Formats: sequence, structure tokens, C-alpha cells
Amino acid sequence: MRAMVLEKPGTELKLLDVPVPKPGPGEVLVRVAACGVCRTDLHVVDGDLPDPKLPIIPGHEIVGYVTELGEGVEKFKEGDRVGIPWLGRTCGHCRYCLSGRENLCESPGFTGYTIDGGYAEFTVAHADYCFPLPMDYDDASAAPLLCAGLIGYRSLKLGGPGQALGIYGFGAAAHIVAQVAKFERRRLFAFTRPGDTAAQDFARSLGAEWAGGSDEAPPVPLDVAIIFAPVGELVPAALKAMVKGGTVVCGGIHMSDIPSFPYELLWHERVVRSVANLTRDDATEFLELAPQVPVKTTIETFRLEDANEALARLREGRLTGAAVLIP
Ligand SMILES: [Zn+2]
Ligand SMILES: [Zn+2]
Repeated sequence: MRAMVLEKPGTELKLLDVPVPKPGPGEVLVRVAACGVCRTDLHVVDGDLPDPKLPIIPGHEIVGYVTELGEGVEKFKEGDRVGIPWLGRTCGHCRYCLSGRENLCESPGFTGYTIDGGYAEFTVAHADYCFPLPMDYDDASAAPLLCAGLIGYRSLKLGGPGQALGIYGFGAAAHIVAQVAKFERRRLFAFTRPGDTAAQDFARSLGAEWAGGSDEAPPVPLDVAIIFAPVGELVPAALKAMVKGGTVVCGGIHMSDIPSFPYELLWHERVVRSVANLTRDDATEFLELAPQVPVKTTIETFRLEDANEALARLREGRLTGAAVLIP
């Protein structure tokens, strides 16, 4: 099969012909119909994340069809459409798995990072970590739900129910969170790279009542801020925009260093927290919620062999919505 493979972090992906993987016990073989391109893929490719499996096939927003069942799989049958997200495996017995926090598992497997992912014609995944997808979405439109959607949803949930929501970095995750936030009748304020009027217009089209540069102050103080851009400077900037007791959620897996800031910004019970990975319950909840909103995903499709181009466009902020590869 054709696959885009990372042999060494810091180099481009290579289009290679590799064997179709075999599903082991509990696993399914899936023909990939679409795979979203996430900022985390960029961090894997650039070497920002430690110890990836190498060589690795990136991609963890996979929509595909089951073509073969490993031993003991009963959850799916051949031909079923499934979604495969970032959380590929957990141990089931560590303190985190046993306390409803499998997102923090001591020995997890992550799709497209420590387990081969979806930048390929086929992939295998553990059936217990695959999800049926709502029929309201075609293959390509469903792909961004699987990470941008899931992590965005978890970020929104952990930020709490505050009314005035600020989103820093208006890309794939933000464009989904914005729709859920409006569905929940929140007020939405969007922060983009200074001068990025296209992203600001995009945010307004999704219900932001104000959109501006990340160097600007919002017209009202924020109850919750979610930072999707991997820029540490945004943490004190967001704290400055918060009400007392407000929460700043860092939604990305990697961020540049956070500059030091006066304690006064954190004082009054303001909270800064990160969001790591997802639980399977997050996936079930969000995939039920998405068609009710209904979340509409804005995508740009690329051929599998153009994955490097899609990643470059994401790095440079030259995408509206989410990039999706079609093998
Ligand atoms: Zn565990
Ligand atoms: Zn992701």
C-alpha cells in the first residue's frame, strides 16, 4: 500500500510502498477513506514530541471502512465505517485508567505517534478505541471531528460553563468549538495572528461577536479562554483578559515556553490548565452532540501524496478550517 512515512523527525514525509498491516487479536484492518491533518502531526514531524515510533505513519483523524477483523472482535463487522482518534490504546489498570482518567494512562498508545496512523491506504486499530460515526457526515467532513472536534470539546468542557469565551488561534479545533459554544448560547470572542483578517472573517462567520489580533484586548473580560495556538506568550495575554476566577485552557500538546508574568495576573483564583489527550467517553459524548448542533466542518482536501504541502500550509496558517487527506 502507499503510505506517507516519517523516517526521521525534522525531515519531510516520504511516499513509500509498504506492506498492508495485519490485524492482531482485538484489532481491525481499516481501508482509510479520509484522514485529517492535525497540528499534532506537525509537532511529530518537526520533532517537538519525544520518542515517536520510527519510522511512523502519522495521522490520527481517520475515517475508514473495516475490511478485516482480528481474532475476537465483535464490536464491528466488515464494511462498517469507523473513526479512529488519537487515543489508540490504554493499559486499563494504572491509577489513571482506574479513576476515569484514561487520557492520562501510564502506558498509552497514540495513533500516528507511537502506533502507525492514517496517512496511508490502510491502517490497523484496536476495535475498542474505534467509534461508529454519525451518518450526517461524509467521510472527509467527519475526519476533523476526531481530533479537532474531540480535543476542542474536551477543552471547552474543562474550561467550565462561563458565558464569555475567548478562543486564541482560529483553526480546525476552534472552528468546531465555536459552533458548540454558540449552540450552548455562549458569547464568542476570537483571537488570531495580528492582521489575519481572513481568519477573523471566518470566526465572525461562525458566530464570533468580536474577532481581532491576539495583541488586542476583547471588548468584555473573558470567563473562559482556550488557547489552541502553540504560543506560550498567549498565556499571560489571556490571563490579562480574564475575569476573577476565570480559566485559561491550553488545548495543544506542545507550546513554546510561557514567559514569566506578575503573580497579579493569576491572583483572584484565575486558573491555567492544560488538556491532555481524550477519553473514550469524550468521544462518545461529542460524536452524539455534533449532529445535534449541527457542527459543520470546513475542510480543504489534499491527495495523500500532498501531505507535506498540507502540513506546510498548516504551519504557515494558510488553511481555512481543516486539511483532510484522501488516499
Ligand atoms: Zn492506564
Ligand atoms: Zn490531533
